[in-house]
Amino acid sequence: MSDCVFCMIASGEIPSTPVYEDETVLAFDDIAPQAPVHTLIIPRAHYRDINDSVPDEVLVALLRAVPAVAAAKGVDASGYRVIVNTGDDAGQTVHHLHVHVIGGRSLGEGMVRPAEGE
Ligand code: 5GP
Ligand code: ZN
Repeated sequence: MSDCVFCMIASGEIPSTPVYEDETVLAFDDIAPQAPVHTLIIPRAHYRDINDSVPDEVLVALLRAVPAVAAAKGVDASGYRVIVNTGDDAGQTVHHLHVHVIGGRSLGEGMVRPAEGE
């Protein structure tokens, strides 16, 4: 998609420094990291999110890239969190399927923050 920032990164139109790449996926560091390690893994092809019709081989490639990214960033032993924000309630802002790999510090036990007032 011509107006998709991650398609532009995948095509090289926007330069990135690959953390990991293969013929199906590309991983690069998040522009606004939430932790010392915050890397995004994207399919080279455009899918809106995990609800889209994503071929099995792309799903496998995305998940296979996770431990490769973790090892490349040195958090495979210390641990990390994998997040796939999907849709409005998850706060998805870039509508090109992507996997966050976050680590490099203790992330705590909770996966979500309570809503205001809870
Ligand atoms: P979402 O909230 O959609 O799951 O996450 C999108 C992520 O993409 C955010 O963490 C944001 O910082 C990151 N991001 C948005 N635009 C760019 C960009 O141009 N380059 C990089 N490296 N990350 C981006
Ligand atoms: Zn895209």
